[in-house]
Amino acid sequence: MTGEDFHMSRRLILIILAAGIMTILGACHSNGVSDTSTVLTEPIETDITGGEFKVLMPKGFVQAGQLVEIELDRKDIDFEIESLNERLLVDGKSLRLPDDAITGERFRFLVLSENKRIEAEIMVANTLTATLLEDGKVSNPNALDVVINKSRSLPEDYAPEDLVTVQVPTCLPNPEIRQLRKEASEALFNMFEAAKKDDIYLVARSGYRSYLTQVSLYDGYVNNYGQEYADKYSALPGQSEHQTGLAMDITAESVGLQLEDSFGDTNEGQWVNAHAHEYGFIIRYPEGMESITGYLYEPWHLRYLGVELASLVWESGLTLEEYFETLE
Ligand SMILES: [Zn+2]
Repeated sequence: MTGEDFHMSRRLILIILAAGIMTILGACHSNGVSDTSTVLTEPIETDITGGEFKVLMPKGFVQAGQLVEIELDRKDIDFEIESLNERLLVDGKSLRLPDDAITGERFRFLVLSENKRIEAEIMVANTLTATLLEDGKVSNPNALDVVINKSRSLPEDYAPEDLVTVQVPTCLPNPEIRQLRKEASEALFNMFEAAKKDDIYLVARSGYRSYLTQVSLYDGYVNNYGQEYADKYSALPGQSEHQTGLAMDITAESVGLQLEDSFGDTNEGQWVNAHAHEYGFIIRYPEGMESITGYLYEPWHLRYLGVELASLVWESGLTLEEYFETLE
């Protein structure tokens, strides 16, 4: 098993010895092929037992781009692997996770021998430790599950390649900030449309921000209010989630199209709190979590993670940082 894409720390080597959530087809047909499934929702350390042999799965989760070697406990039994997901490639006795696999994504595969098959599932977790370089920059700036905060920066020259102008009502003229990455933009549109059906009218205010835009924003705060204030209310260049193209500040007429805490108490804010994850967004900076996220309450700041991961985070009740901690 190799990890050429990875920054090889000792922690990471442990992660590379990783596996995930597995499904076992246990009972047998007349031809010996099993058909009963059991889903284990926690990563397990040991083997999948299937009678004549066990599949030795690595421990923990797997990451994007990882090559996962599959072994049996009996070396005398030959077997093949068959992927049940077109994004999961088989390379001999190994599985290659896609480079753009995101945390929470699950991949199923079969281990087949002459008279038996075992179905298994692995779950991806691009952990915080595995995606942080020594200089404090993230190794996965383009990943939909990238985590950016005051200790995890984007490269200065990072700009998403798939920015599009959002197709929802906006209130600021600057064309740059009306953009999001394509997938996030489509999800935002779907969310705004769903809100309308509930008589909730949302307005997008500020989305993508380039590194240079963040430089001028931050410098403006420093010049007008001083360093301390700037650090509290503005992200340092490279540390703004808006540079990912996956964050959008939203508002509503009920708060004068401004970004303020009271948005969280409005019908619009309540609707977003209850439904954003269904469209792949989370409220990134919940109330009272400043010590973990680095930011005060921002009921308006939405972060796109995809429906799967956003739902996992929302259901956990944790901040994004805390959720990722559970995957280490
Ligand atoms: Zn924001």
